[in-house]
Amino acid sequence: MGMLLGVSARRESHVLHIHTPESFLHFDRTGRFLRRIWADQVIRRGLDGRMLLVKIIRHGTKTYRNYRDLEETEKETALTEAYREAINVLHSLHPGDPWIETLEHWSAVALAGDEQAFQRVYLPISILPPDQYHSLVIQITHGCSYNECLFCDFYRDRKFHIKSMEELQGHIRDIKDFFGERLADRHGIFLADGNALIIPTQRLLSMLDIMKMEFASVATSFSTFMDTFNLKHKSSEELKAIYRRGLTKVYVGLETGSDRLRDFLLKPGTAAEAATALIRMKAAGFGLGVILLPGVGGRAFADDHLQETLDLLKEIPLTKDDAVFLSPFVEPSNPEYARKIRGGGLAAFSQEEIEAEVFRWKQHLRDYGPRVTLYPIEEHLY
Ligand code: SF4
Repeated sequence: MGMLLGVSARRESHVLHIHTPESFLHFDRTGRFLRRIWADQVIRRGLDGRMLLVKIIRHGTKTYRNYRDLEETEKETALTEAYREAINVLHSLHPGDPWIETLEHWSAVALAGDEQAFQRVYLPISILPPDQYHSLVIQITHGCSYNECLFCDFYRDRKFHIKSMEELQGHIRDIKDFFGERLADRHGIFLADGNALIIPTQRLLSMLDIMKMEFASVATSFSTFMDTFNLKHKSSEELKAIYRRGLTKVYVGLETGSDRLRDFLLKPGTAAEAATALIRMKAAGFGLGVILLPGVGGRAFADDHLQETLDLLKEIPLTKDDAVFLSPFVEPSNPEYARKIRGGGLAAFSQEEIEAEVFRWKQHLRDYGPRVTLYPIEEHLY
């Protein structure tokens, strides 16, 4: 086969990058397809076999992202083409390269087995913070102990459960089998699902010890989601002990500093109570990722939502090591939210208005100090 023009292959032990005239293709150390990147779109494949297409849409000076899961037939086509192109490039540039055999092992059919294998290890990983997609997720709990916030659909499919030590040991064995050599590509451990800090302290400390021992090379850091209304069950000494044991970062669904909006959304606890919880976490040493929901509640709440959230943020001693995540509101499939908006004669925001809200929040937080980052939940793929 002759040399292809405008193509290149960068081969490392843990990843393969192929550059064709139209796109970049990436494969992991086992030869599984990771992503294809074109000028204005990306296809990413998750550990569970889901494939997400992200398109950049330009409207005048503005750009939007459109997200869509690929259908089964589209997945098959995308994978078949990716492998064919990558193998052609390698044959042309590096005949005899061991990566060729690695890629030839895979096909859309062979990769379909990942979906069932994933389901044997995990309940769906409903959401992760955007900087945790490369962590090793360990589901030490299932679901959320509250599960009733009006805007949140993440865990409505499951009952809250804290794994026993035996269940955790079994989960760890399953995770090791599932990842195999791919464990080396994971950085840090994320404790799912909703809120690991709700686990009684001694049990949580023992769980952290086990995970550190079992995943010594990955357990460089631990992080989790937390809610702000259950922290009263933990003393400051307990929080410090958990921090010292390695759980050092928490992502907090603060959502809003407006009590009126919190009530509307059925979010437990007042904004002042949430601020107290965050101040306690900072005092115990934790790094915080504070998640806010621009656009939720629509027009009737918009100004209070922004202003009272800005006021609340001023009370929390966040530093440059912390982060604020702006998560553009996405209407949940739970119909209660829309019903309550309509029933109250309120106006929900359109997609464009939510984009405008996010922009407005960003402007107000421009000189804030901690990193302010977008957190589009549609982008989540593990
Ligand atoms: S937003 Fe958080 S606390 Fe509320 S239901 Fe969802 S996971 Fe639970």
